Amino acid sequence: MTDTQSTAADSGLRNPRFLIIGAGMSGILTAIKLLEAGLDDFTIYEKGDRVGGTWRENTYPGIACDVPSHFYSYSFAPNPDWSQRFSPGAEIQAYFDGVSRRYAVDSRIRFGTEITRCAFESGRWTITAADGSTDVGDFVIAATGVLHHPAYPDLEGQDRFEGVAFHSARWNHDVPLDGRHVGIIGTGSSAIQIVSAIVGQVARLSLFQRTPQWIAPIENAAYSEAEKSEFRRNPAAMAAIREEISRGITDGFANVLIDANSPVLDAIQNACTENLENKVTDPVLREKLRPNYRAACKRLVMSEDFYEAIQKPHAEVITETIDGLEKSGVRTRDGRLHELDVLIYATGFRVDRFMRPMEVIGREGTSLEDAWTKGPSAYLAISIPDFPNFFMLNGPNGPVGNFSLIEVAELQFAYILQLVEAVRSGSCRELSASRSALQRFDAERIEAAKHTIWSSGCRSWYLDANGVPAAWPFTFDRFREEMARPDFEDYEMR
Ligand code: NAP
Repeated sequence: MTDTQSTAADSGLRNPRFLIIGAGMSGILTAIKLLEAGLDDFTIYEKGDRVGGTWRENTYPGIACDVPSHFYSYSFAPNPDWSQRFSPGAEIQAYFDGVSRRYAVDSRIRFGTEITRCAFESGRWTITAADGSTDVGDFVIAATGVLHHPAYPDLEGQDRFEGVAFHSARWNHDVPLDGRHVGIIGTGSSAIQIVSAIVGQVARLSLFQRTPQWIAPIENAAYSEAEKSEFRRNPAAMAAIREEISRGITDGFANVLIDANSPVLDAIQNACTENLENKVTDPVLREKLRPNYRAACKRLVMSEDFYEAIQKPHAEVITETIDGLEKSGVRTRDGRLHELDVLIYATGFRVDRFMRPMEVIGREGTSLEDAWTKGPSAYLAISIPDFPNFFMLNGPNGPVGNFSLIEVAELQFAYILQLVEAVRSGSCRELSASRSALQRFDAERIEAAKHTIWSSGCRSWYLDANGVPAAWPFTFDRFREEMARPDFEDYEMR
């Protein structure tokens, strides 16, 4: 080592302290990967009382992940015991509980601690919790999730409704559904799963549909005991399945969505149309359920049994606009009153929040609110100029939707570790994406987004306030390549 190198290395932070915000899938991943890298000075701050993030919060009946389970799991922690191709939410939650125990992550979590402020002061990050306590570290990893702030419809008379109303992500398990008249607003992935799960239980089900959805058929076969023991005996078989699914989703879906002219999208459209036409027998209902936009323009909904459920005689699809709520139910524009005991808002999430409402203050007092006046953006979904040593997992403009966000987070964290390594090795003390790199990335992604299926004419949560799809508009292979190695030219290093 030359003298210059030795000085640089000495000035590096060999053992930096990490503040991880969120103990969901990506916070747990961060902790495991830091331990694996020999970096054990960290604390995870979690507002809830348990790990799991979205899987802790979403407990609605029928909740499952429509990304196959052998792919929707960490690459380093395969699970031979998945019960089904698409396992239910409680099983996924148990998986995260188990992994965090097995990797001794749970003892590093401060539960019930909501971080409200995060400020870069004198070269380090100070975080402040709602209870006033503080902590100081060198790096912040915002593992705060994407779909976590429920969006409620702004309906007149909400306070007049005398039944029980709650959001799909805040399921009230104290409310019995048996024999009751239940209304559901929304037809996204959550609503579709809820309909199938509760239709056999309720006396009447009213689905308030503002926009119909294309439904891709799936088969959710159970794994047999023989298959599970084979997975246990032969982990390579599980790894092969994972690889096969990953390749299939990349080539057959992720890389296809970004080209609205792709013939594969026509095949997806045909499969969805066939599903609708074969499964829905009543022509009036069929037309109510037929979207007038292209399949996969909105986040594609997958279901094995929604069409069967919604054709039950006591289920109804209501397409009239909702005028408001009254004492006994929902009034639609045609004057009809839909009497309800329970109303479920399956109305999605405020997707532009990310780590907010946490106040984030970067270099020289720059606030995140100021940085994001035009909407959330981050270089490669990871770093924001003037917010040094602050990195996001599943941040804005990353791959979202029908992907395994676990694979996305694994790739992102491997990239982040290389940024950390630049500090540890003494190349710099702090780094964040340069303004020019973010501008270039934003310009390129906005241009690319015009050619995606998401821009083909529909309303969806992928679109930002300007109607531009905010999701990763390049191939997934490009994402993998970008994440393989940071281009330090794109970073401001001090
Ligand atoms: P969503 O896809 O955003 O759907 C919200 C639904 O509510 C839409 O049908 C929307 O109608 C409707 N809506 C919103 N405001 C309304 C209003 N004021 N009046 C009438 N209808 C209104 O939300 P989500 O179903 O919770 O799903 C969100 C995302 O979570 C999914 O896209 C997916 O990425 C993820 N998710 C995944 C799974 C899985 O299996 N992996 C399961 C559930 C959720 P419009 O369509 O007209 O806007």
